[in-house]
Amino acid sequence: MSEIRITADYHSHTTYSHGKGSIADNALVASRKGLEILAITDHAVRHPIIGVNPKKYGRMREDMDRVQENYPDLKLMLGIEANILGVDGDIDVKECDAQKLDILIAGYHLTSLSYKFSDFFKITAGAVSRYAFKSTKAQIARNTKMYLNAIKRHRIDILTHPGFRVDIDFKEVGKACADYGTYVELSSRHRTPNEKSIEEMLNTDCIFVLDSDAHKPENVGECEFAKQLVEKFSIPSERIANIDGKTLTLRSKS
Ligand SMILES: [Zn+2]
Ligand SMILES: [Zn+2]
Repeated sequence: MSEIRITADYHSHTTYSHGKGSIADNALVASRKGLEILAITDHAVRHPIIGVNPKKYGRMREDMDRVQENYPDLKLMLGIEANILGVDGDIDVKECDAQKLDILIAGYHLTSLSYKFSDFFKITAGAVSRYAFKSTKAQIARNTKMYLNAIKRHRIDILTHPGFRVDIDFKEVGKACADYGTYVELSSRHRTPNEKSIEEMLNTDCIFVLDSDAHKPENVGECEFAKQLVEKFSIPSERIANIDGKTLTLRSKS
């Protein structure tokens, strides 16, 4: 198989949350690596301490517009990585705030602050205990329900690192992403889906994106683990949305 040519990276962090570089730093690396599109997607507000308050979106946009002037061949997109917060599938980016962004991505993060205290017992406790005990069927069902509800209720463009820190039914999640038009991220940073779970997702019609989830500028465009998955499982190019100059059909803008 010829080298996979990634032309867009839809997941990168900056100092607006806990990334190490600025928007300008990430853009410089993206440009040097020949990317055509780079999304800046810092963590949303219920990520403790580092989450971005929607009031800052305007300032981020101004910052991005200034950087954009220097890169005519690179399209910058302003996004946020929302937190999926509990069994009901709540996320911490309101629809009206999402409309101020170019792209909305979302994933589960163990440390994010749920709206409902009951989600601590339903989701977080299981996510912590899985390091010592195997997840129960009931736990996996609840985690899966959380993802499915988020995908159904919110116009999420990309589901980030599915199954990171929670065990889920990958086939059900892949099926929901295909049905609702949400792309599935192959995450090199968190190495998920892994070799076992990718097979379950390949049995659905979901479409993938390979993202870096870079927290340091030098990692922008870095998708080595995901590329290996694509090669090992012969994932056809029609099922990868960010290669060879393709662009996404954004659910959040439909
Ligand atoms: Zn994340
Ligand atoms: Zn991230």
